Amino acid sequence: MAGRNSLFGPVDPAQDAGYEAPPARKGFFTDTSVCIGCKACEVACKEWNLLPDDGFDLLGSSYDNTGALGANTWRHVAFVEQPAGRVAPVSLGMPGVGPPAGALAPSGASAGGLGPPAPAEGAPNLLEALDGGTETEGDGHPDFRWLMSSNVCKHCTHAACLDVCPTGALFRTEFGTVVVQDDVCNGCGYCVAACPFGVIERRKGPAGARNVGIAQKCTLCYDRIGDGLEPACAKACPTESIQYGDLDELRERADARVRRLQDEGVEGARLYGHDPHDGVSGTGAFFLLLDEPEVYGLPPDPVVTTRDLPQMFNRAGMAGLALLAGAALSFLGGRR
Ligand code: SF4
Ligand code: SF4
Repeated sequence: MAGRNSLFGPVDPAQDAGYEAPPARKGFFTDTSVCIGCKACEVACKEWNLLPDDGFDLLGSSYDNTGALGANTWRHVAFVEQPAGRVAPVSLGMPGVGPPAGALAPSGASAGGLGPPAPAEGAPNLLEALDGGTETEGDGHPDFRWLMSSNVCKHCTHAACLDVCPTGALFRTEFGTVVVQDDVCNGCGYCVAACPFGVIERRKGPAGARNVGIAQKCTLCYDRIGDGLEPACAKACPTESIQYGDLDELRERADARVRRLQDEGVEGARLYGHDPHDGVSGTGAFFLLLDEPEVYGLPPDPVVTTRDLPQMFNRAGMAGLALLAGAALSFLGGRR
């Protein structure tokens, strides 16, 4: 049930945390349909937040060297390769390479301004393979497609990591985001087990290295947004796959984008983390996906792991009272 300091249900998380008249809730809308897998977001995040590298070797299982979100990877770009036959080829409106569309062809802007600019007429579109993989020689249809998606902490409306933190190192900001204070975290790791998305991790490394043993995750660039700047990943993304702003406005934008894709025949297009009635009451970082969440390594139906704690405490309290009452009755009965 929603309410003050509730652990479940739609709420404004900043107000729920006690901020009076907080600014509009901020978040990320990650539109994976226009991600080109350049990893500029990963690099910008590492650079701004002084995160160590993860090694530079490809994993062997994909064109990826980072693999998953972790203590040193606060943005992770998944590369998912799908065989032909799963999907019909549809243009997703990928960006082109060349001069800005408006410079040569004022009419070349993307329809409705919902996506990145369309390539100028006659400009080479070197990225069109990302719309549908390579072409087979036979039927001219793509033989595979790439799904690319930049994952991040979801800045949940109800954040189990924050609920279980015994030191207050994790806190809710006035923007509704969830941030770890490195100098308050004692490294107990409760938050690691509590996160339903497997996002947060303690940093490993040689003793004495920066923040070793401390829980680490995306801060939605708390130190930038407080100064009116965009988070580093959103600033670096060349295709506007990562959009930052007021959550309500992002949700409207995402609704329009998913409707447009579905109208154009992209049947798998869906929003993830967008529903305030889901198991975490919606997330501050939500996604437009082109297939099931599991395909991207996301849980299909995440639930805040502390949701049932109040009910469990109530029941434990009632059981304790019943035991006390039973003991008192047997004591009084024994004296007669
Ligand atoms: S995704 Fe995990 S780490 Fe991020 S706010 Fe939600 S519970 Fe916390
Ligand atoms: S910067 Fe943008 S396009 Fe490049 S990998 Fe990240 S989300 Fe995708």
